[in-house]
Amino acid sequence: MTDLTGRVALVTGGTRGIGLATARALVEAGATVVLTGRDEARAKEAASAAGAAAGLVLDVTDAKAVSTLVRGVAKEHGRLDVVVANAGIMEDALLGMIREELVDTTLATNVGGTLHTVQAAARAMMRKKTGAIVVLASVVGQYGSAGQTVYAASKAAVANIARSAAKELGRSGIRVNAVAPGVIETDLTSGLSDEAKADNVAKTPLGRLGTAEDVAKAIRFLVSDDAAFITGQVLGIDGGLVL
Ligand code: NDP
Repeated sequence: MTDLTGRVALVTGGTRGIGLATARALVEAGATVVLTGRDEARAKEAASAAGAAAGLVLDVTDAKAVSTLVRGVAKEHGRLDVVVANAGIMEDALLGMIREELVDTTLATNVGGTLHTVQAAARAMMRKKTGAIVVLASVVGQYGSAGQTVYAASKAAVANIARSAAKELGRSGIRVNAVAPGVIETDLTSGLSDEAKADNVAKTPLGRLGTAEDVAKAIRFLVSDDAAFITGQVLGIDGGLVL
């Protein structure tokens, strides 16, 4: 059993889906967890559901707010060992239908938000020369997806944030990895038609869609000492979908 007793963890976008499951999984392993969301009531409710120490308001597109919150968590708990940059959005659009606003919002949230979080985490972890960061990429960032050009581009960028940050931060004892989930049943994918879901299941060797817990457990492994020599990796959690 993974033991994270004494570790302090921050999960962005922890109000539901993969973020909430990750917060729960880290709490189960003994970590003190702070989760965030854009709405105060939702963040507090999720924190209580996950057994987290706090649910705080954060919009990850606001670099200053990210920096202040991360510094505050590290100060209040005396350390920051684990950061999961999970907050993200997905909106589909065929090439000809892509609006500027969709590009701006997707890149600001998925790329900008992840970058701000990794930067702030690195600053907080640097002094103690230890820490583990996980960012949320996607199989579509690796292999592309019709109707998801903007989202796929943003997730390719996220994977490369992990690789580059891992190279830069390794000497400071900070590991940075990405997970690349396939189709996971959360609010994000609730708009998929039954036909699209069945098609994905048919293409998946393990014969089902993923759950938020599938991803959470892999993240818990990556931030634990069991993964002490793993950094800069993009771990597929997709039941073999991309094979
Ligand atoms: P959900 O839509 O269920 O949850 C998204 C979370 O992100 C919510 O907690 C939401 O909080 C938060 N969020 C969104 N925008 C912002 C923002 N600007 N600032 C702060 N928080 C924000 O998504 P999933 O759990 O499915 O996805 C989590 C991550 O995993 C995302 O990065 C997604 O791209 C990635 N992923 C998901 C896959 C899937 O199939 N589900 C597959 C591959 C990757 P709020 O309460 O404020 O809305």
